[in-house]
Amino acid sequence: MKTKVAIVGGGLAGLSSAAHLLLAAAEQYEIHVFESAPMLGGQCASWLDAKGRPVETGIHLDFPWYHNKDALFAAIGHPLPLKETDGNYYVCNGQTGQIDTLLAGKSVLKTLRGLATFPGLTPTERLQLIGFIFRLMRMDDRMADSFDHLSVTQFLLDQKLSAGIRQQLALEAVTIQGLRAEEASAASFIKFLRTMYGSMGIFDTTFFGAPLSVALVDPLADFITRHGGHIHLATAIKSVTPATAGPARIRTTAGVTHEADHVIFAVPGYAVPALLPAELRTTSPFAALADLKETPIITITLWYATKVFTDGNVYISPRDREHGPIFDAVADKAFHWKDWPKLKAEGSIIQVLIDAADDVLHLSDAEILAKVSQDLARFFPHCRGQASIDATVLRLKNTYCGTRVGYWSKVPRKHQTGLPGLWLAGDYTAGVYHYGMESAIISGKAVANELLREINHAGFEILRPRYLPFVRV
Ligand SMILES: Cc1cc2nc3c(=O)[nH]c(=O)nc-3n(C[C@H](O)[C@H](O)[C@H](O)COP(=O)(O)OP(=O)(O)OC[C@H]3O[C@@H](n4cnc5c(N)ncnc54)[C@H](O)[C@@H]3O)c2cc1C
Repeated sequence: MKTKVAIVGGGLAGLSSAAHLLLAAAEQYEIHVFESAPMLGGQCASWLDAKGRPVETGIHLDFPWYHNKDALFAAIGHPLPLKETDGNYYVCNGQTGQIDTLLAGKSVLKTLRGLATFPGLTPTERLQLIGFIFRLMRMDDRMADSFDHLSVTQFLLDQKLSAGIRQQLALEAVTIQGLRAEEASAASFIKFLRTMYGSMGIFDTTFFGAPLSVALVDPLADFITRHGGHIHLATAIKSVTPATAGPARIRTTAGVTHEADHVIFAVPGYAVPALLPAELRTTSPFAALADLKETPIITITLWYATKVFTDGNVYISPRDREHGPIFDAVADKAFHWKDWPKLKAEGSIIQVLIDAADDVLHLSDAEILAKVSQDLARFFPHCRGQASIDATVLRLKNTYCGTRVGYWSKVPRKHQTGLPGLWLAGDYTAGVYHYGMESAIISGKAVANELLREINHAGFEILRPRYLPFVRV
């Protein structure tokens, strides 16, 4: 008899757990993925709008240390269509500038050069910055976690860094954590910077050469269904009753009940407690999950008819909606998707995606678009005169859990729930520094390993970033 596995949530974590189980022992499992949305992918979903244009949930950067993700896509026979950038970030900090900091894996010298030419800093500050980054690289996880109770702002002050460095690094907090420096956990910040500056990979930072569903989600879904897995779209789960004597029972909002030997929660952490019987919601590890919150983020996706941005990178701005631009990031998809055969060259298009950004919810679509046009003209003068043939605003909810101060004390570091047959997957449960595609993939792999162990089947190696020799992890 096959072991029945119900996976609640069809984002990358849910798909990763299904794909890893099927890769290892397809004949042993009957797998059902339940996804409340009409499409798979969760935060990595993309779809076509009424005019047939792709819409994505947000700009997604792929990092050189995403080894588990690369390994999974290689294993299912679908290497990712990655579009390498020149490894630079451009920032919108009253003006545009360049941070050449992302380690390309080609040369450590590139990182040093990036630090030594960090924009807006004096030569002395640059030296101070190099020393600071070196100190971060010498911090192990335990030490990084000990700063979880501090905001990035407080941590940088305690490190006695100059105002100029603090201002620039605060900008990185928005980039890394999607949060303002005063609300972001210093632990995540340290772990990310340590990985960014201290690890090596084959690629520079990359984007996907096609919309997220084409690049990431459909290949996983195809693999799962081809290997006997079942995917139930538009099927929201309302409740999960853990196994006592018999199997666990999961109930859909439409009132259908399914039984399963294992239930994998692959929904955002804050959504888990509500699915459980009331008496379990206040117990560990579920109670703390209710405190996790979404991160507000506004991204602009553009397709310009002519080449306006010359580098194809993402531009990041500080979260200052009053003085700075309204958006947090902007990327020119015409560059990223230029080799995707289905991209229609029909004119310039602007899409504004608002993820849980309550501070702009009072603005109408017209007001948001007017602000976006003003900002593009202000910060990127070459955008002036690029009238769009279409501009849309999309307001999303239920996106990622922000790594706010205290985040690491709330998220479980294990996938077991303490209840038989009930497991936690999801980007918040695993990974090197915090959420992200790689964390979601690792979490699915780790839960698959737990289930495989129960049938004495070999699991998969969890791959760690390849760190430079002097980095402490
Ligand atoms: C704007 C934005 C930009 C991002 N940029 C990057 C980036 O540059 N690099 C990077 O690595 N990561 C990035 N991320 C994060 C990355 O997308 C996520 O970490 C990852 O996709 C999370 O996968 P997941 O499966 O853990 O969760 P999710 O993708 O949230 O999947 C959970 C799924 O569960 C479903 N669900 C919820 N409740 C139920 C229910 N009751 N019943 C059934 N289904 C349910 C949801 O619909 C969803 O499909 C970004 C995210 C956003 C939103």
